[in-house]
Amino acid sequence: MPYLDHAATTPLRPEALEAMLPFLQGSFGNPSGQHAAARVAKTAVEEAREEVAAALGAKPSEIVFTGGGTEADNLALKGAARSARDRGLGDGVVTTAVEHHAVLHSCDRLGRDGFRVARVGVDHDGVVDLEALAAALDDRTTIVSVMLANNEVGTVQPLAAVAAVVAERAPRAVLHTDAVQAAAWLDVATEAADAALVAVSAHKFGGPKGVGALVVRTGARLVPVIDGGGQERDLRSGTHNVAGIVGMAAALTATVARRAEEAPRVAALRDRLAGGIVAGLPDGAVRLNGDPPGKLVNNCHLAFPGVEAEALLLLLDRDGVCASAGSSCASGALEPSHVLSAMGLPLDLARSSVRLTVGWPTTGAEVDEAVAVIIAGVERLTRRVAARIPQGG
Ligand code: PLP
Repeated sequence: MPYLDHAATTPLRPEALEAMLPFLQGSFGNPSGQHAAARVAKTAVEEAREEVAAALGAKPSEIVFTGGGTEADNLALKGAARSARDRGLGDGVVTTAVEHHAVLHSCDRLGRDGFRVARVGVDHDGVVDLEALAAALDDRTTIVSVMLANNEVGTVQPLAAVAAVVAERAPRAVLHTDAVQAAAWLDVATEAADAALVAVSAHKFGGPKGVGALVVRTGARLVPVIDGGGQERDLRSGTHNVAGIVGMAAALTATVARRAEEAPRVAALRDRLAGGIVAGLPDGAVRLNGDPPGKLVNNCHLAFPGVEAEALLLLLDRDGVCASAGSSCASGALEPSHVLSAMGLPLDLARSSVRLTVGWPTTGAEVDEAVAVIIAGVERLTRRVAARIPQGG
């Protein structure tokens, strides 16, 4: 079954499963305890922290384990904005129009809590407008959140340039980046080096679901979103998900170790997928959304003018191809994507757009099968539309 929805989630890597099994089967201690069973768990969590820190270019003391990417984004946005306001430093929150809802809805919440929120626009490839960003910043800005790579079209943001603008125009602000999609394919240690806060999620790079991390660089101050027993330096209370944390560390280490081999292989598969579909359809029947050189290697985002993405996805699903329209996280709801709208894509093209994302286990045979099914699906739906248009007038 061709699975082309790796941006939604990707299978568990064998290394992650192997690392997790002892903590699912035998070792069950709570790392917060004081006895031998607890110590085994605590050691595993601290070793995982070192591994995750090394992969993300941070110190172990700068890693906060969370219950996933959404939670990491919430902690970054709400934690930094509220901490800055508590200290009288400001009330401004600035983000982009193409962020994941974990960021956008956190900003909306902050807006309802009295913060000034600005969403900066992007160009037709989804790249943030740096001039508009500069104009949105001031010395009362508390946090700026710009994702490293977009979950729908895969656009990679110029984070170093963003950081330079923030340092000049909003020196009190902390820069947060949502690196949830980027972590599988980019060297977050380098690409996000200028961000004080960096969110990642295990299930996007071959770890388990429901676990993630936020890098909180020394000096960045947050108030917690979840209160309780004071785990994770009081920033994320709740008993640690030991197996999940250990699995995330193993998956991230494997991802980093294999990237030099996997990224070009995946890029070639993505190009084979896009190229096969374009070659198999008449001129004008398909167009690429976003700028391939500036996007993640695994992302292929296509618009099929005149074809309803929803109908196409149903056909693909029936024929065994898993794909998605836009963000997987807006569960089931095929509303026109806020990302494509922000990129200026007309509504009809946005409604005709499909996201195909390959991943570490994707094979050439899978891609070829998907190409054939997609072409057949588009042709069938195009014929159906043509049959509905009255001839000769
Ligand atoms: N941020 C981005 C860019 C994402 O793509 C996702 C998931 O799709 C998230 C955040 C949320 O991560 P999680 O599923 O771990 O809550």
